[in-house]
Amino acid sequence: MLTCLCWVELRKRTALNSPDIFMKKALLILATLSVGVSFAQAADAPIGYTDTPIIPGQKWHVHDPDRPIPKIVTPGTTFSHSAPAPSDAVILFDGHDLSKWKNGNKPAGWKVENGYMEVVPGSGSIQTREQFGDFQLHLEFATPHKVEGNSQGRGNSGVIIYGKYEVQVLDSWNNRTYADGQAGAMYGHRPPLANASMVPGAWQSYDIIFEAPRWKDGKNIKKANVTVIHNGVVLHHKQEYPGPTRHRGVGNYDQEHAPKGPIQLQDHSNPMRFRNIWIRSLGNYDE
Ligand code: MG
Repeated sequence: MLTCLCWVELRKRTALNSPDIFMKKALLILATLSVGVSFAQAADAPIGYTDTPIIPGQKWHVHDPDRPIPKIVTPGTTFSHSAPAPSDAVILFDGHDLSKWKNGNKPAGWKVENGYMEVVPGSGSIQTREQFGDFQLHLEFATPHKVEGNSQGRGNSGVIIYGKYEVQVLDSWNNRTYADGQAGAMYGHRPPLANASMVPGAWQSYDIIFEAPRWKDGKNIKKANVTVIHNGVVLHHKQEYPGPTRHRGVGNYDQEHAPKGPIQLQDHSNPMRFRNIWIRSLGNYDE
């Protein structure tokens, strides 16, 4: 539409000129426009918001740009990387195929090669076919080796438990963004206790322990909580979600949901890679 309007205006202005001059001017304007569009597409992603609600029980806005940035901790070179699954684990991805995953009612649209799966940007987030209650999850991810974008636009994905509770996946190596959105954050709620990110392209591990929320007689009696270990560094220890994750908002437990759900990996338009994904259901004591 923008191009069309400019074209009409240019035709009027050059009506008395020769077709040759008209074409030269047209090409010049189109070139200028395309440069403008390129700049618009490459515009920096915001590093925070102050028009968002205050997080209950905290003094920060959701995605507050002034919230302290977690300290950097250099992880050991390996922790649970390539860890073989325990005998009672469900192998969700062994490097060969996406048979345990889907995209809604469709097959998962990500590609598999060289022992990893990779987000095909725009193909959609994927979910496990199986549902899980309280669990221990292991996965490994790599952000793109070639750094593109900034803030939330750089190496973004997510482990979205039940499609509701997000543990953020992001390239947080030298990448300024809001604290509650960096790698390992309980997105929009708690920043990680540390930034244990590795360099872009390196394989990194998440070990996540999650307890599902519970309701009784329509009333929430237990909030979801999570423990996250990133490359061997504890980011959260049994921290509660105030409700399902929201972008620029705060969730709640008004809507009861099943005590089990799928594990979702987010397509946030970056070619993120995942490998070695397995999960164990947690039992109860004395059972
Ligand atoms: Mg994300």
